[in-house]
Amino acid sequence: MIKDMKAITLSFLIVLAFYSFSNVQNKGLFEFREFQKAVNNQTRTRTGEPGARYWQNSSDYKLEARVDDSKNILSGKGSIVYHNNSPAALKDIHFRLYQDLYKRGTARSVPLPVEDLHDGTFIGSLKINGIQYMIDNKPVNQNQITIFCTDLCINLTDSIPTGSSAVIELSWNFTIPSSTEVMRHMGRYDDNFFLGQWYPQVAVYDDIRGWDDTPHLGLKEFYNDFSNFDVTVHAPDGYIVWATGECDNLNSVLDEKIIEKLNYALSHDSIVSIIAPEDHKRSIIKGNVWHFTADHVPDFAFAVAKNYLWKGTSIIADKQSGRRVLVDIVYPADSLQYSKSIVVARDALLWTSFEFPVIAFPYTHATSFFNGSRDGVSMEFPMIANDATRADHNLHTAIVAHELFHNYMPFDMGFNETLFGWMDEGWAEFLENRFKGDNYSIYEQRDLKQYVSTAGTLSDSPLITASAELSFTSFAFMYLVKPCIALMLLEELMGGETFLQAAKAFMNSWNGKHPSPYDFFYTFDRFAGGDINWFWKACYFDYGYADLGIKSVDKNKIIIERKGNIPVSIRLEMTYDDNTQEKIYRNLNVWKTGATEYPVKIKTRKNIQTIILGDKLIPDVDNSDNVYQR
Ligand SMILES: [Zn+2]
Repeated sequence: MIKDMKAITLSFLIVLAFYSFSNVQNKGLFEFREFQKAVNNQTRTRTGEPGARYWQNSSDYKLEARVDDSKNILSGKGSIVYHNNSPAALKDIHFRLYQDLYKRGTARSVPLPVEDLHDGTFIGSLKINGIQYMIDNKPVNQNQITIFCTDLCINLTDSIPTGSSAVIELSWNFTIPSSTEVMRHMGRYDDNFFLGQWYPQVAVYDDIRGWDDTPHLGLKEFYNDFSNFDVTVHAPDGYIVWATGECDNLNSVLDEKIIEKLNYALSHDSIVSIIAPEDHKRSIIKGNVWHFTADHVPDFAFAVAKNYLWKGTSIIADKQSGRRVLVDIVYPADSLQYSKSIVVARDALLWTSFEFPVIAFPYTHATSFFNGSRDGVSMEFPMIANDATRADHNLHTAIVAHELFHNYMPFDMGFNETLFGWMDEGWAEFLENRFKGDNYSIYEQRDLKQYVSTAGTLSDSPLITASAELSFTSFAFMYLVKPCIALMLLEELMGGETFLQAAKAFMNSWNGKHPSPYDFFYTFDRFAGGDINWFWKACYFDYGYADLGIKSVDKNKIIIERKGNIPVSIRLEMTYDDNTQEKIYRNLNVWKTGATEYPVKIKTRKNIQTIILGDKLIPDVDNSDNVYQR
């Protein structure tokens, strides 16, 4: 009996040792030392699951914002309770002063109109745990404050111990950019304001790198803690406010008929004109102090607009609970009104909830706010997107869907976009292309075109390269096109159903957390049914581009050459001398051995007349060797 117990204990220990060994052993993929350390600290694993000791920090923001439409100024005040869940005492704290992007003379990686430049964020007062660190935009003690572009670092008099919280009290103001040319994260356009990046935000302190002190130079987007927000917006007279989260005092700001229509949209499938043009003929605004709350979200943005129209509907995102999500569009009366925008938005969220990745839309609403600018750039925020209007209808609807998909990535999946912007943008672009079903026209016109012109050039580097800051020209390629194509190849390699299961597992394990690239690789490894390091290496770690060519044709043997490292599938369209045709397909896994040539053998005695290699969806930077003619 005792002996048996020993045997059982021993085999249990062997299994345990084997498990932890496989978890500790590097799996052959190059790993940053920061990730290796995280595995040793048990915050990350090599199975793709969060580690047993995974932690992340968070804040409770209680902020008030006042928008002055005559001076274009936002003034804010409030408090942030910052929770240090890390195992370390924090000796310093980093804030992001995003508006310093517009400060005269600061470094930036995007061109901005000169008329929008200003003096930066004015910090009226900043206190931490009762100690005054800044007053009238000046440090109380020079030695404690450093500024690096938008990064404000404070060396704390008393550190924040592990497991404790710090109370930050602050007031600030800045000039809202109002040039009509730029309105990405925020700005004024005619009589509307979109306000993202409007408050001093505590930077992320994580288990991989500690403080994220990389400044915002204009291109990088989100890497934020999941925090709770309680925000009061003082709108100028005559303006309505839309925002992240829930407004809990609608009765004191909006006419009851509007609220009735909103409630109808919230509980029905039909599309409702919540604010129609005729509603503006009477006064529908009862007050200008709006109160919103949002829990466990990575950011809070709001829009303030005059004479805007509002359409809404709702979908059942979760059939089990019957939970409904409001899908709404907010737009200027005189804009190009794409009546299909709300239909696209609704269909996009039904698609993600029930087709891919089959995860119920994570938030209570998805608002598309159209700022009225034509052909500008759109920007996602949790539950509300700042959308420009595109003249091309297909592109317009693709972008509406794209920005909504960002609610999954990066908002539900808190990727580190300051280092790995490709993680969320790649997914959003992938979802956008997949959502349209068989209609890949935008993918062909935009993504593939850009791939052909940029892949393998100096603007292309391995995705795993920490994208501290990319150049303006390589941004779209590196963040959107290249990672989207990598995901499409991964899906083809794994097969649609397996890929979907892996994507779901990844999202179920990491929603509300900060997955790194390795958490993505190792989760998909569990489903891949074999070692796919060769794929990760080629598509994420190595230089290269997609380029196949027909090297030689000898009777019934065709040699396909892989000239550019990136593995893509082989599709051949054969025409024989009796005018019959044959289509041949080889999955990209034929390249897993690392070979640069692959022989395709034809099982016919007919003579080959022509061969066309590739198809319109397979990236290939040089098509000149893709056609054979006897
Ligand atoms: Zn995007």
